[in-house]
Amino acid sequence: MSGNAAPFRLVANPRRCCGAGRCAGLAPELFEQSLSDGTVIVRVAQPPAELASLAREAVALCPTRALAIVELV
Ligand code: SF4
Repeated sequence: MSGNAAPFRLVANPRRCCGAGRCAGLAPELFEQSLSDGTVIVRVAQPPAELASLAREAVALCPTRALAIVELV
């Protein structure tokens, strides 16, 4: 693991995603939406440390709990 990477991984479950795009709107560095159905795609599974707070915020804001953080430590 890189020294400046967040100590967690971002995981998405597209089956739970309603495609409203809240995560991608808040953190386009970390998430995008499928062109076919709008469901989430994690762009950076292990974000840099400076985006860790933003990643946690996006997970907390997901209305369908389609996003999760898996702690690595
Ligand atoms: S905020 Fe949640 S439901 Fe909305 S697009 Fe992102 S993962 Fe899907």
